[in-house]
Amino acid sequence: MLDKRNLYRLPWSMNDNPIAWLEVTDICNMHCEGCYRQHLTGHKPLEQIKEEILFFKKWRNPDNVSIAGGEPLIHPQIVDMVAFIAENDMKPIILTNAMALTPESLRELKKAGLAGFTIHIDSRQSRPHWEGKTEGELNELRQHYADMVAAEGGMYVIFNSTVYPSTFHEIPDVVRWGQAHIDRVHGLVFITYRTAIGDANVAHDYAGQEVDLSQLSYSRERFDEKFVTSPEVYQIIKDNFPEYEAAAYLGGSILHTSYKWLAGAVIGSKKKMYGSVGKKTMEVAQAGHHLFAGTYLAYLSCAKVGPKIFLLSPWDKTLRPAWRNWLKDVMRHPGRLFDSLYVQSIAIIQAPDLLPDGRADMCDSCPDMTVYDGKLINSCRMDEYRLFGGFISVVERSRGEPVEEPVSMSVEEPVATSVG
Ligand code: SF4
Repeated sequence: MLDKRNLYRLPWSMNDNPIAWLEVTDICNMHCEGCYRQHLTGHKPLEQIKEEILFFKKWRNPDNVSIAGGEPLIHPQIVDMVAFIAENDMKPIILTNAMALTPESLRELKKAGLAGFTIHIDSRQSRPHWEGKTEGELNELRQHYADMVAAEGGMYVIFNSTVYPSTFHEIPDVVRWGQAHIDRVHGLVFITYRTAIGDANVAHDYAGQEVDLSQLSYSRERFDEKFVTSPEVYQIIKDNFPEYEAAAYLGGSILHTSYKWLAGAVIGSKKKMYGSVGKKTMEVAQAGHHLFAGTYLAYLSCAKVGPKIFLLSPWDKTLRPAWRNWLKDVMRHPGRLFDSLYVQSIAIIQAPDLLPDGRADMCDSCPDMTVYDGKLINSCRMDEYRLFGGFISVVERSRGEPVEEPVSMSVEEPVATSVG
């Protein structure tokens, strides 16, 4: 059972946040059902991208720059921007559907300084030859890209997927596959699907003018299912993989009960999973990275950690059983002392929820803020700025007064993010 007292509240803030969310294009070579971005402007010029990178460096203090879109790999100057980020001492990460990724482009990107990928694959994408597949069947495609990145070496790869009510029960299939390949899959991210529902709601812009909600890619006429929440995703993972535990969180910007980001990391070898890190290890990792590198941490650059990961066991009550399990296993199979030990992050993100008064409960200290018109704004809602000049409010059409339950809203996290 989740309890915020047992979790570390990630210390991230608007101006000191490990992630900078750089949007380089709004063109994509695929359609994802929950995508929050639509094609309005096209590829950004490299000069503007460089200015935004320097803006992030000045105002965000990031450890990594997440190059997002649209599909960043189809931007003709993707290699130049990766190189520019690396030259400015930040880690470039590409958030992609990977359809345009080849061993040759991978090599070129690595040479330019790329640190890793977050690859978005799920069953609600218009991916040629893969439509109609289950999440479990898509593991074959995930494997293809995990092998491609591992063959080049020196970069990490995280896979994320959007969780729909109808695919919720398939989450364990993805986790099982990830754990079996812990040596090359550095993390998994599950993002709960949200959409604004047009037929029940009315939307207003910041000046109080009614706006057409259907202009947003993240709106639908109807949605009759119940949205999945982060605690539910946590529970289905926990039920199927008892060694998994969450260690850190970001709450809601309005609701004290929200778990908008849940971050955890399991420890294991290719043969066996031993347990998870707990809140103390997360705290030491964040504070230590800030102390020695000057930034907080979102992506581990090396997932192969070895038994030194257990050094914090005396202080970390979640880590202790993992250490005991490893010791018992090594006593039973002494050869396993020499097996490599890895950590694999598992992050769960619950996108914004609309409240009865029209406000949205966002991720507190949003890690995916991007630059729009010289301001930092939540990337998941940037199209509201692009179409209507600012955030809109959405309330139930039939009621003049607040309703008791939050009305459904919201957007899917764009392509990806992960902690760990
Ligand atoms: S962009 Fe939206 S969904 Fe992503 S972290 Fe920020 S508030 Fe949450």
